[in-house]
Amino acid sequence: MTEMLRVLNLRKVFTIGGIFSRAKIIAVNDVSFEIKKAEIFTLAGESGCGKTTIAKILLGFEHPTGGIVEYKGRRIDNIKPNERFSLRKEIQAIFQNPFSTFNPLRKVDRYFFEALQNFGIAKEEREAEKIVREKLEAVGVAYEEFREKYPSEFSGGQLQRISIARALLTNPSLLIADEPVSMVDASLRMSIVNLFKDLRDRFGLSILYITHDLATAYYVSDRMAIMFRGEIVELGPAEKVLQEPKHPYTRLLRDSVPEPDPSKRWTSKVLLAEQEHEEYLRMGCKFAGRCPSAMEICKRESPIHYEVDGVRVKCFLYR
Ligand code: SF4
Repeated sequence: MTEMLRVLNLRKVFTIGGIFSRAKIIAVNDVSFEIKKAEIFTLAGESGCGKTTIAKILLGFEHPTGGIVEYKGRRIDNIKPNERFSLRKEIQAIFQNPFSTFNPLRKVDRYFFEALQNFGIAKEEREAEKIVREKLEAVGVAYEEFREKYPSEFSGGQLQRISIARALLTNPSLLIADEPVSMVDASLRMSIVNLFKDLRDRFGLSILYITHDLATAYYVSDRMAIMFRGEIVELGPAEKVLQEPKHPYTRLLRDSVPEPDPSKRWTSKVLLAEQEHEEYLRMGCKFAGRCPSAMEICKRESPIHYEVDGVRVKCFLYR
């Protein structure tokens, strides 16, 4: 499979506070992964683990502190704002809350026709309508039901499908889907997830799926990475990562999944963990304060990634 996106040693540090008291927060640290053509790659982890910061960097909303991002072999982490516009055609995104994507006082179809005009995709109305019909058909929404309506006239599931159709208008190669089903009714969640698989298979679309929900991640992903405190701790084929988890944190997460119902979220055990020791966070493995397998070395040194049976694991257990 051709490589679509490559992220290498990505790092993002935020500085917070005022003039007299400043603190640095490492939101993303040494993150590397690639996404291939027609692949669904998932970044999964608790809130605040850095996955959304990575999405913002890929979309140009944040600048990385370090590292490299390449799209189709071209470096994009340092491009100028005017070059970003052409990239927007190729890399599209959808977000958690479809109702915040659209202004409640504007009819939804206006966004479609505007986007086609702004990107220079359709020159006249008939051509634009044909494209809009095609994209709506791809996500299972009838054009007649969509015309002349405000966002509040759709259900959350329908509106998320419509925002996916809007993202498809520019024929992107990569779609970033940040928690796309977490605000959708449980009964409709799987239909959206199935839609991603369908788009991958029909159009060769690559998808970066960002979620805290391991059940849908398992169902939709070709490969996935588990993140903890800004770092990838385990990366590999989704089946291997979730059926035979190697990293102690992945095991904790997996055991917290109330499968097979994807409407239920994993939470709990992981969040109820013991208080962490600040020193481990600074010097050693970031999971040492919670890890049932922690050793002396884990408190002193940070592990590198080890390759085990086709999976990358950041843990001293696999030295
Ligand atoms: Fe646990 Fe040590 Fe592995 Fe970190 S490196 S996950 S503390 S065993």
